[in-house]
Amino acid sequence: MTQNQAMTPFLQPHQLTYIKKQLHYLVGAFYFSGDYRVLDASRQNSVEKILAAVPDATPEQRALLAEAAHVRDKEEEMRYVLKLEPLVIPFPEITAAEIKKLFPKVKKLVLPPLEGLDRTKLTYLGWRDIATSSLYLVCRVNGKWKGIECRYVSGQKNRSYICTWCGRALPGDEVALVTSQIKMRNIPDGYKTAGNHLCLDSFSCNSALKTTDGIDAFLALLK
Ligand SMILES: [Zn+2]
Repeated sequence: MTQNQAMTPFLQPHQLTYIKKQLHYLVGAFYFSGDYRVLDASRQNSVEKILAAVPDATPEQRALLAEAAHVRDKEEEMRYVLKLEPLVIPFPEITAAEIKKLFPKVKKLVLPPLEGLDRTKLTYLGWRDIATSSLYLVCRVNGKWKGIECRYVSGQKNRSYICTWCGRALPGDEVALVTSQIKMRNIPDGYKTAGNHLCLDSFSCNSALKTTDGIDAFLALLK
């Protein structure tokens, strides 16, 4: 058995969300499958996916992740998730002063609610200023804070758009076209614009985030 108490946190919030999705499949497969061979295959498949989603796991951590294969019902799912939750690395603490430093050009910067923030559910920090249609994004990149100032244009309420970060399809007033200006290195005063469809409710987006691929791609564009 894994000595859970002795284990230091190693899971990113989005990795736990991904694991939860796989557990959900597993419990569903166990419930609906009459064929045990199908069940074994889907179990193996889910465990492989979980291990692939946490590529830096140590052998001890991998053993704990492989225990997902034994989850058969909602109760076992809950117990296993409770075991994993303390192993999530929370989003680093950030102060209002540090946030202001990230957006030096913004006058009267609206700050996110920093009190009582559940940082174990955050892969990035994002918040809106409705008055200026701005979305502010803060990520931790290679041990440094990165702030991205964006503008957004809401889409049509009766159409759905896919958030490129969390992958959910939501109405146009929840997922909007979000753009950020990038200073061109080679051209003085030159700018280009990077655009993305993103959730306007960043807390909800974080709770659905299963990979950082979309965030990484956006950050790469801004370089
Ligand atoms: Zn999203």
